Amino acid sequence: MTDADLLLHLGVDPAALDPSPERRRSADACQRIGLPCAVCGRPGYATRIVRLPDGCRWLDTCRDHMIASARFQAVSRPWTDILADLREAAAEAGVAVTVLVHDEAG
Ligand SMILES: [Zn+2]
Repeated sequence: MTDADLLLHLGVDPAALDPSPERRRSADACQRIGLPCAVCGRPGYATRIVRLPDGCRWLDTCRDHMIASARFQAVSRPWTDILADLREAAAEAGVAVTVLVHDEAG
């Protein structure tokens, strides 16, 4: 699953998104909160960077579409990738994280 797949799932035209830097800085992200959701136009609740073949862009989303994005990514990504992201974020933040996984099938 790529960010282009996510935009296709949400029905967002990548060309309509603002260009972004490759790495998210908190100050930039804070300034984007409240901008219209790229999906429905309601006030934005969150923002993230999507990596596309022609460069990085901001994806501003309302609360509902932030959750829809997270759900799409969660079901589309192997859990090992999600754990790798958690480890990377914890290392970047300088905190220790213990992750417990429950396998509902087992
Ligand atoms: Zn929305």
